[in-house]
Amino acid sequence: MRRFSAEYIYTGNEILKRGIVETDDFGKIIKLIDTGGKFEEQQSLEFFNGVIVPGFINAHCHLELSHMKGMIDNKSGRGLPGFIDEIISKRNFPENLQEQITKADKEMRLKGIVAVGDISNTDDSFTVKKKSDIFYQTFIESFTISDEKVDETFNLAKENYNKLKDLKLSGTIVPHAAYSVPDRLYRMISDFESEKTKIVSVHNQETPGEDELVKNKTGALADVLTDKGFLLDEFSYPGNSALEVNLKYLNKRDNILLIHNTFSKNEDVEYAENFSDNIYWVFCPLSNLYIENTLPDISMFFKKSVKTCIGTDSYASNTELSVLSELKVITENFPEIPFDKLIESATLNGAKALKIEERFGSIEIGKTPGINLISSFDFEKMTLKSESKVKVLI
Ligand SMILES: [Zn+2]
Repeated sequence: MRRFSAEYIYTGNEILKRGIVETDDFGKIIKLIDTGGKFEEQQSLEFFNGVIVPGFINAHCHLELSHMKGMIDNKSGRGLPGFIDEIISKRNFPENLQEQITKADKEMRLKGIVAVGDISNTDDSFTVKKKSDIFYQTFIESFTISDEKVDETFNLAKENYNKLKDLKLSGTIVPHAAYSVPDRLYRMISDFESEKTKIVSVHNQETPGEDELVKNKTGALADVLTDKGFLLDEFSYPGNSALEVNLKYLNKRDNILLIHNTFSKNEDVEYAENFSDNIYWVFCPLSNLYIENTLPDISMFFKKSVKTCIGTDSYASNTELSVLSELKVITENFPEIPFDKLIESATLNGAKALKIEERFGSIEIGKTPGINLISSFDFEKMTLKSESKVKVLI
């Protein structure tokens, strides 16, 4: 058994001043004490000068791209179209890929991440996931360049899905983005095991050209895709925005994780929230700065009290895989968002999005959420500082 206390415990849904949390030897929470701030030194209690938070949920990553650190030029000013251009031509499969994936998995755990919503276009990351201390919800991602390729593409996705199931790992087949999935493929993905309630993720409105492309099949994104062999005439794009196209195909009873939302506007948020109660808005701010050199209007989402989550994206567009670093950049740019709401996004909301809130996401009796300490915290403003650090306690 271990007993921890700190200046504050953010449980995921409440804040306890100098509270005490007790766990068994396996990290399961067995007791949570609200001392009302009146704390006395007790035996066998580990007290920390910082704040205790639940283990982080990284709602969006591509573990299999862990070898791509620094490979994509982020100074071109070409945004996502430039990124797609480079990733298609530069993606390789080096001999030490497994080593790099293992390293990234270990790094995430050291940074306090306990569960990840992770995109897989291949099966490269599966064996690492199987052995990992981290829980992975895998999104087997599908896209293709033309209608002719749909059957082959979907069969490959199903093959990877079966490999995942053989390893007893959790996952679903998902679309990549509104612009890269032909009509027939999107229907196959939506219809696949549709008798089950699923967890679906899709990249959404990451670049301004996305909406222009689905509306008019023109713009910088359309140009790059055409250049890469996409037969855009064969894509039907039934909607006036990328978001509308996605929601046209997706099932409202599934958990829908919308990734990035860099250019989503007020009316887009309203549209999606009217469509379903199971929308999760996932933000990967460091990746957005890397690729598009801009951030979503994250404040707008928090003001609306919609369900927000945090992702790191991959080493192709980030220099580290740390949820805390993502929270810091949000704090720097949107200081009006309260710290407890950021923690809720980085923990409980992510756990709900991945349907693992029975185990993860909050410090509550019976859960094994992982426990992190954030040190160098700004107690005056009750917020993160640029030098804030995370340490895994359990
Ligand atoms: Zn992504």
